[in-house]
Order: sequence, then C-alpha cells, then structure tokens
Amino acid sequence: MKKESVIVVKFGGTSVSTKSNIQTIVNVVKKEKKIHDVILVVSALSKVTDLLLLTASGEKDSIISIKEKHYSLITDLWQDQEVRKKLFDFVDECLDSVLTICKKKISDKKLLDKVVSFGEIISSKIIATYLSSVGVLAEQVVASKIIVTDNHFGSAEFLPKATKNNAEKILWPLINKHIVPVVTGFIGATEKGEITTLGRGGSDYTASILGFSLNASEVQIWTDVNGIFTADPRFVKKALPISEISYQEASEMAFLGARVLHPRTIKPAV
Ligand code: ASP
Ligand code: MG
Repeated sequence: MKKESVIVVKFGGTSVSTKSNIQTIVNVVKKEKKIHDVILVVSALSKVTDLLLLTASGEKDSIISIKEKHYSLITDLWQDQEVRKKLFDFVDECLDSVLTICKKKISDKKLLDKVVSFGEIISSKIIATYLSSVGVLAEQVVASKIIVTDNHFGSAEFLPKATKNNAEKILWPLINKHIVPVVTGFIGATEKGEITTLGRGGSDYTASILGFSLNASEVQIWTDVNGIFTADPRFVKKALPISEISYQEASEMAFLGARVLHPRTIKPAV
C-alpha cells in the first residue's frame, strides 16, 4: 500500500543512548508509519563523537569507554546471546578500524572525519537491528553512499544534485518496500568517496538534506529538550517553549548560537 507521504525523523545522541530512549524511537516510528513512510536519521550515542576525537588525539582510555557504552546498550537491548555477539563483533570491527586509522598521521582532518564517522555507523546498526527485532522492517544506510559533499573536511557542504540522485536511487527502493532506512547522521563523502562530516551537530542537517532530496512532507528533529525555547532552558529556568516559529527566526537563533539546531538545517527544509 502506498503511504500518503515520506517524512524524516531524526534522533540526536542523548535520544539514542539508552534502552528506554530506543523504545521511544520505536514508538515514534511505529506511530508515524501508520500514515507515512519514515526515514530515520540517528546520531552517535551521547559523547561518542568526543571520545572518538580524544582517541585520535592519543588518549588511550577513550576507546575503552566507547566500547563499554555500546556493549552496555546492546546488553540492555537483547537477551539473545547470538544477536549480542553479532553486534559486539560489529562494534569491535569498527573500533579496530578506528585504531588502525589513528596509527596514521591524525592531524589530518580527512582522517579525523573517517574516525568520527564510526560513531554514527555503530549507532545506526544497533538501532536498525533493534527495529527489526521488534518487527519493524528496517535497514542501516550509511550516508556516505548518499550525501555527496565538497572537500571541506570537518564541515563539508552537500552538493544538491548528486545527493538527490543518490537519495532517490538508494532510499526509494527501501521506502517502496516500507523498509525504514536507518541513516547515519553527520556524515557524507566527497565525489571521490572520501568520508566527510557536516560539522558538529550535523545530524540535524542530514535530516533536512534528506527531506529536501526526497521532497519529504516533514522533517522532525527529536531531542532531549522539549522544543525550541525563548532561551537555553539548561541555564534560564524561566525559559518558555515557542509554539510556532518561522524558518527565518529559527535560522537566526541557530546561527547566533542556540544549540537546539545545526545552523544550516533550515535552508534545505525551506
Ligand atoms: N555525533 C555528531 C556530533 O556529536 C553529530 C550530531 O550529534 O549531530 O557532533
Ligand atoms: Mg544536536
């Protein structure tokens, strides 16, 4: 059955880090799937990008924390030893690649992008597997196959035409089978296929890039703060949620430093 429309739903680091967060994702996806086809975009688990950067800078213990965070989430999510083992192995493989890359000259921004990309590669794998095990058809999609960018490693800009082509080629076949693509936020690749990142907090941008590319009817950004506030609610206790905001105002807030949205997110949405 053809659904009414496609929407993109994005969950950030703090919203993918615990079993109960991931159950929330499942609930949101199930609810939205009744009406729309859904593309899910996910960030790395909370703090993992920072820990990957620390690993690259030579901090030996960081890789252990990264491993523990993922192992403990996997253990919480599954009783089944076989599934656990498969995912532990996946985490280990990814972290081995991280360590291999880190042996090279890591001041290079290109290599740093490659290192941090594993945060989203691991989280999307775990979440896609979890959705499948609770009966929601889902498949991990690594966005370096979709989002084509310039070569500004560390804060790359996407190339609309090439990205649109790839999004159509890779995502439509899944959507048409009502499989939820679970897409890595934050990362893309140059035309030569070298991994790039869209800047810190870039998973919001991934969501709106995909929304633009597939002409989605909606882009939802879910986070641990309940909306856009009049001020940062972590610092200003009297801050109030804003019920409606124009693209212009949201964009200005983001550019002026409100942490709620990656500053470049609005334009593709418009
Ligand atoms: N994981 C990336 C970061 O920490 C991207 C994101 O969370 O949106 O910056
Ligand atoms: Mg964010």
